[in-house]
Amino acid sequence: MDRVGITTTIPAEIIFAANKTVVDLNNLFITGLGSSGYIEEAEVDGFPRTTCGWIKGMYSACLDHGIQTVVAVTQGDCSNTHSLMEILKSKGVETAPFDYPLSRDIKMMKASLLRLANFFEINIDKAEHWREKLNIAREKLWRIDKMTWKDGVVSGFENHLLQVSASDFESDPDAFEKKLDSFIEEASLRKPIHFPVRLGMIGVPTIIEGLYEFAEQHQARFLFNETQRQFTMPNGGSNLAEQYLRYTYPYDICPRITDINEQVKLRQLDGIVHYVQSFCHMQMEDLLFRERLDMPILTIEGDTPGPIDARTKIRMESFIQMIQQQKAALV
Ligand code: SF4
Repeated sequence: MDRVGITTTIPAEIIFAANKTVVDLNNLFITGLGSSGYIEEAEVDGFPRTTCGWIKGMYSACLDHGIQTVVAVTQGDCSNTHSLMEILKSKGVETAPFDYPLSRDIKMMKASLLRLANFFEINIDKAEHWREKLNIAREKLWRIDKMTWKDGVVSGFENHLLQVSASDFESDPDAFEKKLDSFIEEASLRKPIHFPVRLGMIGVPTIIEGLYEFAEQHQARFLFNETQRQFTMPNGGSNLAEQYLRYTYPYDICPRITDINEQVKLRQLDGIVHYVQSFCHMQMEDLLFRERLDMPILTIEGDTPGPIDARTKIRMESFIQMIQQQKAALV
């Protein structure tokens, strides 16, 4: 059990402290050459068409890569993941339980962390040392984020790709840290580009290819990736329990909305794209975002991995144009 699969961001510190490699199954699926093939394989095995693409992709990627142990998040992740765990167990995959206490109670969080540490037979203090080590890479990611929205030298897609990797540190924290150093060095030499339309992306990371690039071709750049930024633990914390309670994603929507509103103001965003995944219960959150975020919102939906389709292109283009016109009218 050298490689441990994860389906969402969890306290990776514990797994690294146990001398195991963390592998985010989402990243394994989406960066795999045959990401569409993974979805087909899952459907051949009996997954319904009306199941989220990420679930089907993670299932096939886990089996294809021979991952023997997966952390099952029993609270704070979606119900589809719970069913996925049952199916993986039936295929002989071992599952390690972890839950985010929905009450956000520190004692309960400490108990959850301890359960996971006990499963991997490590002392929690060892994981706290790993927190300090991983925070060095996280600080570099925060710097890259600032180089995106403030300095204008990092693209929205680069920002997405690097921050999304903070779930598993590309399975090799030392190599990942070096990669970040080289990226910062190279990006610091770039000529800043400040796009006239400043966008934010909220919701689960998109399965659609080319969305970020399409926006940039139309004078708009994504300067905020909500969920990916949360993977970098931007709210800190003095220990593991505090850190994972300040992470907004697994709990109710209120801390997410506060975070988004703060970042919209700080980054001077003009509009938000809410990405939703087909067949995901989180689509319903759109209603609350529209009620509580006081700015233009475009909701776009993706199903399987593939390039941005014509309909989404037209909707994105109209949204960007609408923002440009609104801004011009204010001048
Ligand atoms: S996109 Fe939604 S349904 Fe799919 S894995 Fe993520 S939370 Fe679950």
